[in-house]
Amino acid sequence: KKNVLIIGAGGVAQVVAHKCAQHNDVLGDIHIASRTAVKCQQIIDSIHEKKALKNPGVLEGHALDATDVDATAALIEKTGSQIVINVGSPFVNMPVMSACIKTGVAYLDTAIHEEQDKICETPPWYANYEWKRREECAKAGVTAILGIGFDPGVVNAYAKLAVEDYFDKIDSIDIIDINAGSHGKYFATNFDPEINFREFTGTVYSWQDSKWQSNKMFEIKKIWDMPVVGESQTFMTGHDEVHSLSQNLDVPNVRFWMGFGDHYVNVFTVLNSIGLLSEQPVTTAEGQEVIPLKVVKACLPDPSSLAPEYTGKTCIGDLVKGTKDGKETEVLIYNVADHKDAFNEVGSQGISYTAGVPPVAAAMLIATGEWDVKKMANVEDLPAKPFLNLLNGMGLPTRIKDANGDRALDFS
Ligand code: NDP
Repeated sequence: KKNVLIIGAGGVAQVVAHKCAQHNDVLGDIHIASRTAVKCQQIIDSIHEKKALKNPGVLEGHALDATDVDATAALIEKTGSQIVINVGSPFVNMPVMSACIKTGVAYLDTAIHEEQDKICETPPWYANYEWKRREECAKAGVTAILGIGFDPGVVNAYAKLAVEDYFDKIDSIDIIDINAGSHGKYFATNFDPEINFREFTGTVYSWQDSKWQSNKMFEIKKIWDMPVVGESQTFMTGHDEVHSLSQNLDVPNVRFWMGFGDHYVNVFTVLNSIGLLSEQPVTTAEGQEVIPLKVVKACLPDPSSLAPEYTGKTCIGDLVKGTKDGKETEVLIYNVADHKDAFNEVGSQGISYTAGVPPVAAAMLIATGEWDVKKMANVEDLPAKPFLNLLNGMGLPTRIKDANGDRALDFS
């Protein structure tokens, strides 16, 4: 058993905490920390309400500013935590990693590190912060698994599975993320608006013909016909996993496509065009300094408030093309998740659910030793099957569609 410290108490942390509780026979004590202690307590209350703790065990909340490395290290030691699941804002990633290296415990996150004042950095993004610390992790014997949400995360494991089982040579990986759900609001983001919009205001980097290509957001559109959700409009988007898969797998084309309806594109375009998504302060006529993006965030619905009314499904997967035994081959490896099912199980919407379940599966693989690699790893550096096997039983089953049909994949 290994005790877990969860950093953050937002939408994803809620799912992580519930799933840790459901699996506290493999994991041990569960601690949740964010700056606002009451948010941690609300998650704890919801776990007790659902009677989610598998075994009687410790479940505690703590007030913590995770940018304070010493305070985080002290909490890790005080709670006897051996695995830190960092699902706080991506601004805290590097300080939390420092605290893990300092105390010699495992580190997991679901998003690339970001600095508040830098909107889009040079590719590959992991090389700007995370990969600079590879040696430090290896020297300290610290297992650090980067980007272990759904995308990045599970989609990296799907790519690895394609390499392991379905191809001799891969020409392209197109990662397609469709949320066909409906939250019933005029406009809302599925997670922190600040983080969400940052994804779409920078340059769109894709890996094409083994080099970086730059585009603008909403410049390249493509319709995909995906299982269950059907024909969906997507746009090429910059995303973390393009930056690791392009470097770690020998694949000349890696692209990411996110589904957006016309309404989202219109609202986003208006907000962006008139400067309301800017992080640069502006001064009002009354002399008050405000950051437009913070104002927009304050006006939009809190993403976690969407959960009770959210209906519909998500479909996220990797369309992989290449050759096997000299023949051209194409497979789609994917998952379908349901917003209502997620709410009924853990009180969250489907986007938080797909992001929050994978880090818990990874923590379990660290606890059992299978993924306890004692160094820094992206998901595609690790064996895919034990991870996907666990996810099959934890609410995120893997399916495949290829020339042999559309079916569930069993790894047991
Ligand atoms: P939320 O904004 O809902 O939650 C973020 C949490 O971080 C809040 O509870 C906040 O609480 C806490 N936090 C922020 N700053 C600090 C700090 N300095 N110290 C301690 N806690 C802090 O975000 P989500 O739950 O939606 O997302 C969490 C992470 O998951 C993000 O990094 C996001 O990018 C990632 N994500 C990954 C996905 C994937 O598939 N890979 C998909 C969706 C999200 P407080 O303000 O009280 O401190």
